[in-house]
Formats: sequence, structure tokens, C-alpha cells
Amino acid sequence: MPSLNEIRQTFLDYFAKNDHEVVSSSSLVPQNDPTLMFTNAGMVQFKNVFTGAETRPYKRATTSQKVVRAGGKHNDLDNVGYTARHHTFFEMLGNFSFGDYFKEQAIEHAWNLITKEYGLAKDRLLATVYIDDDEAFNLWKKIAGFSDDRIIRIAGSDNFWSMGDTGPCGPCTEIFYDHGDHIWGGPPGSPEEDGDRFVEIWNLVFMQFDQQPDGTRLNLPKPSIDTGMGLERVAAVLQGVHNNYDIDLFKALISASVAETGVAAEGEALPSHRVIADHLRSTSFLIADGVTPSNEGRGYVLRRIMRRAMRHAYLLGANEPLMPRLAPVLVREMGDHYGELKRAEATIVETLRQEEERFRRTLGRGMNLLDDATRDLSEGGVLSGDTAFKLYDTYGFPLDLTQDAVRAKGLTVDTDGFDAAMALQKEKGRANWKGSGEKSVQAEWFSIRDKAGASEFVGYDDLDTQSPAV
Ligand code: ATP
Ligand code: MG
Ligand code: MG
Ligand code: MG
Repeated sequence: MPSLNEIRQTFLDYFAKNDHEVVSSSSLVPQNDPTLMFTNAGMVQFKNVFTGAETRPYKRATTSQKVVRAGGKHNDLDNVGYTARHHTFFEMLGNFSFGDYFKEQAIEHAWNLITKEYGLAKDRLLATVYIDDDEAFNLWKKIAGFSDDRIIRIAGSDNFWSMGDTGPCGPCTEIFYDHGDHIWGGPPGSPEEDGDRFVEIWNLVFMQFDQQPDGTRLNLPKPSIDTGMGLERVAAVLQGVHNNYDIDLFKALISASVAETGVAAEGEALPSHRVIADHLRSTSFLIADGVTPSNEGRGYVLRRIMRRAMRHAYLLGANEPLMPRLAPVLVREMGDHYGELKRAEATIVETLRQEEERFRRTLGRGMNLLDDATRDLSEGGVLSGDTAFKLYDTYGFPLDLTQDAVRAKGLTVDTDGFDAAMALQKEKGRANWKGSGEKSVQAEWFSIRDKAGASEFVGYDDLDTQSPAV
């Protein structure tokens, strides 16, 4: 059975053999796009090549790109622990043609790779095409020999990609794997498509138009190809498991967290172990790319992901920081391909340790408050905005962490009430400051907190740790 590392290598080798330049993954912090929080697809590092603003010495490339989808247009944070196929961090395998080959060769390459190199069974595969893309439809018939019912026409935005309101865009075709009728779910386009039976493994984008500000689409003089396949998803298929969290890499991470906590990965503890393993990857890779936990921007997203994992460590009964003890296992598993993990290992461990120690000072009391506040609520109930704000302000619980915590009980949070409580707090802070005539310690604190984007209040004596932990 091929390992995750072997499956990645087979992909890169296949495209290298077919004249693609093997390009390293770019950083999770996009270097060429200030509007993007994290690199969320393989094409990000090639954006300017696709638009023609930049040229490269090659016309074909292949990558295994580090991707984080935990904010912005693609946010899979709330899927982790709930679906079999979503991570916050994953590796996107891709092949790219910059005005070189187009639809036919892209489909041919994809088909060869998955059926010949990877050996997937043809009768488990199906494809979607954009509603009016007859060319792609006919290519699938010709190349894969699919019957008409295995090529599904989709009208929605899943099958039409665009970079923005203007610029390169075009139809997509996506390849799905059917894990079998013992799993709930239906084919794409059906009412049960959100189930995990039919899993999307590969998206091929045909960049063929240049969208104008008035909405018209001109043909691009040199159409291009951009594809993305989830490494963990194809690994699940090749390793004969349905759930991404059962592949070799996640088995290693989860057994480490089982060993450290002494809690078996079953029942209610299973999602906790999975969330921890997922968040360990995203947070460690973000730290390796220079992000540090803070109260604003990227650093706050990192902090939110870390703390969500740390709450699960608490649920598993960990009585000392867990994440820093797991990081070396991740480095061992993934550090050969991603050398930055090895180089940053000490920083990763130290950053996780400081953050977990710090959050653990308030986590237990916050959890008690949350338990008290939700004890009498039944399914469908709403946690008050004031309580969610107190958790945020006094105990360092990011709002989404609280939402995640109550979701398991079928509850939601009154976010309007939360916003109102936050606004009121800021108002009070300003009024106090004006009233006192001179800059009190408290006013000083409020001004620091406002600048920092206000996420938590852990006591005045903690003032000096308001800045990022490292
Ligand atoms: P889904 O519909 O399952 O959420 P997607 O349509 O959002 O996937 P794309 O944006 O098309 O995904 O990304 C290309 C490929 O990356 C997908 O076909 C899938 O294999 C993989 N992928 C996307 N999101 C994730 C994720 N959160 N975790 C793991 N793999 C993912
Ligand atoms: Mg998605
Ligand atoms: Mg999709
Ligand atoms: Mg897709």
C-alpha cells in the first residue's frame, strides 16, 4: 500500500516525465497578493504567470502546494471533525499549463495518472463538467470511455472558476470517486451530494476567457490549465480507507495523541483526536512560514486554530500542554519533504507551548462557565451574547471557538448580542478614560487592546503578554 509520501512523489514524477518543471511549494503567506490571507490553492504562486504579467522559463509546471483554508472565500475550519474529507491544512497536487496544452491533454494526463499510475478502478470514477461545456463532455467520453450518465453537467460556480470580477476565468471539470453505497451521499448535483460517499478528488480548471468589467468574456489568446488534487483524499482511496483521517500520516499523529493523553480514539474522543491532528498540521506549518499568534490578522487566525485544538486537548483530559509534545511527530512524518518544518522545529514547539500554557490559565474556568450557561439549554437553544462575550473578553475564547464548543450540543450563539456587548465594552472603556482626566492604567489597557484588535482579557498582570507570544 503506497504511503502518503510515495503518492505525492508518484504525482510529481509523472508530470516531470511529461515535461513539467517541478516547482517547490510557495509559502502559506502569499507573497504576491496582499488581499489573500493564506495560500488556498496551487495556482496562487502562478497568478501573474496566468495573467501574463510575469513570464517563467517553463510553460508547464507541477507542484505539491501547502494550502490553508481557514478564513476568507474558502473556510473549512467548521468542516474539520464533521466530514471525512476536509482539513484546514492540506497538500494540493497540481499541474499547470501556461498557454501550452489545453483541455484534451489535461484530461488525458489526469486519466492516465489516476487509472494507470495510481490504478484506480474506472467504475468507481465519474466526472462533472460545466453545463454548456460540450467539448469537455465529449473528451471524457472519448478518453475515459465514460457512459453519458457518468459525466454530470453542473451549472453552479463549483464548475466555473474565476480569479476575481475581471480577468482569467473558465469552466472546470471535477473527478469524483465513489466510496460505495455503504456510505451516505449522492453524486454531484443530487440532493445528497454533501454526503461523503462521492468524494471530489481532482479539479481541472480550463482558463479560457478574459472577463471584462462589463461582464463580457473574450477568448484568451493562449488558454491555460490549472488543476488541484487533494493529496490526502487520493491517499484515502489508494490506502483503501474512506476517511482522510485514517490514512498513514493521520494514524501516526492520532496514535501519538492517544499515547500522550491515554485516551483511545473512539466514541466522543475520536473527533477531538482528529481535530487536534488537523490543527497541529495547520498551526505548525503556519509557524514554520513565519506566522506568530497575535490578536489581529493572520496571527489571530493562527491563535484561533491553536485554541480550538487546545480546547479539545482539555476535553481529552490533558493536564499539561499537548500540542508541543505532538509537533516532533509531525516533523518526523512530513519534514523530509518540507524541510522548513525541520528548520523551524524548535520555534514550533516553543510557540505551541507558550500559547497552550497561556490559554490553559483561563481555559478551565471558561469551560466551567460555558457548562453552567448551557446546562439548561436544549437542542436548538441559543447561548447569550453576553456570555459569549465574557468568554471572549475574560477567558480568551475566540467567538468561533465558543460556537464550535456549543455546536456539539446543537446550540448556537447570539452573535448580534456578542457584537453589542463588544461595542458597549469599548464605549465604557472610552468613557472611563475621558472621565478620569488622566491616562489611567485601565485606559492604557483599553487603548492597547483596541489597537490589538481586542480578543481577550486575562487580567492586568498579563499586560506584558498581550503581544505575540514569540
Ligand atoms: P469540496 O467541495 O470537497 O469542499 P472544493 O471544491 O472546495 O472541495 P477545490 O477548491 O476544487 O475544492 O480544490 C481542489 C481539490 O483540493 C479538491 O478537489 C479536493 O481534492 C482538495 N480539497 C479541497 N478542500 C480540501 C480540504 N479542506 N481538505 C482536503 N482536501 C481538500
Ligand atoms: Mg470546499
Ligand atoms: Mg467542490
Ligand atoms: Mg472543487
